Amino acid sequence: MASTPVITCRGVVKDYLTDAGTINVLRGIDLTVMPGEFVAIMGPSGSGKSTLMNILGCLDVPTGGQYVLAGADVGTLAEPALARLRNQTIGFVFQGFNLLGRATLEDNVALPLVYARVPAQERRARARDVLAKVGLGDLSRSFPNKISGGQQQRVAIARALVTSPALVLADEPTGNLDTHTSMEIMELFAALNRDGMTVVVVTHEPDVAAWAHRLVQLRDGVVHYDGPVPEQFRKAS
Ligand code: ADP
Repeated sequence: MASTPVITCRGVVKDYLTDAGTINVLRGIDLTVMPGEFVAIMGPSGSGKSTLMNILGCLDVPTGGQYVLAGADVGTLAEPALARLRNQTIGFVFQGFNLLGRATLEDNVALPLVYARVPAQERRARARDVLAKVGLGDLSRSFPNKISGGQQQRVAIARALVTSPALVLADEPTGNLDTHTSMEIMELFAALNRDGMTVVVVTHEPDVAAWAHRLVQLRDGVVHYDGPVPEQFRKAS
């Protein structure tokens, strides 16, 4: 069965014009991610990871090459259509959980559905469903400051899932968590991936990347390695 890639980057280039001249941050990224993959992106500081994540997340556009997200050529879209594609296709998970402190967990999780204009009752039902999926079914009326960091990240993951996205993009999702909690969060990503979710995670930690099935390493704005996660990553911690 032929399926459409979730991500296709063809020669993606990102240049910045500065007073000191042009900086070539991404210098021709070729990357295809198929539905159901679990990919870790690594690379030294300054290699272009954040820049690539912003492009993959439709928060920024390439200056050259082509990025096709779930069949849509991002370069051809103006901002309203780009925002719609982003909201419908991608669930974001960040290092700092970015929850609204005054909103219940349920309301935090339902927020992307407000933007998608889903009716209130359906929003609540779907938020409770995904909170149950991440193991927080009993806490839907609680607040972010009443729960642990690991639980807060679970809420953020539930918020990423509530729109049923084609792709979950996670940027250093365990960066604020202790080792044990980090591994629990990665177990959750792995479980979601086993259920068919496509997951792309940026990390600088080998024991986080070890949960993925494929490693993409950037160096100086190009893909330096793309293949299986090396066995030694599993023993890194
Ligand atoms: P990483 O996430 O791997 O640390 P980044 O994508 O943040 O790498 O940055 C890669 C390079 O691009 C760095 O040298 C950084 O200074 C440069 N860079 C990033 N954003 C800008 C910008 N807006 N203007 C100029 N240079 C930038």
